[in-house]
Amino acid sequence: MASESSKIISPGKVVAIHFVLRDEQGSELDDSSGGEPIRYLHGAGNIVSGLEEGLTGKRMGEKVHVQVTPENGFGVRDPRGVQKVSRDTFPDDVEIFPGMEFGAEDEDGESVPVWVTAVEGDQLTIDFNHPLAGKTLHFDVVVAEVRDATAEEIEHGHPHGPGGEHD
Ligand code: ZN
Repeated sequence: MASESSKIISPGKVVAIHFVLRDEQGSELDDSSGGEPIRYLHGAGNIVSGLEEGLTGKRMGEKVHVQVTPENGFGVRDPRGVQKVSRDTFPDDVEIFPGMEFGAEDEDGESVPVWVTAVEGDQLTIDFNHPLAGKTLHFDVVVAEVRDATAEEIEHGHPHGPGGEHD
């Protein structure tokens, strides 16, 4: 039988949450309630650090409001991250639209995410800032499940599906 402490969120637990995410003005940015809960491995950096911190010590079934500053969320906005590029940068057969995310290479050859924020003729505006950068985030969370991670999940740094497979 599982002890009570096995239902408390701490590093090494696989946690499933439902959440509604709102910005400072109360506008809804995201809502998981229509689908499967979000599952993550606590303490592994799978979710933004401010949310992870706010959930530490909470129990299965608990409702939690977590406020996350940009520093502990998707980062502060860096104006230098906004750039204009020519449409030619992309292959012709790729559809480009505002809001699309793609991978670019930084100077070290590492893949970094970039978002298209505007398309004006042959000019694209791209942004290396996450769309939620600079925002204080308000999460209303319901803790749907807390269980011990398997050794394999801890080794991989993420949760696996019910049959042990990758999501
Ligand atoms: Zn894995």
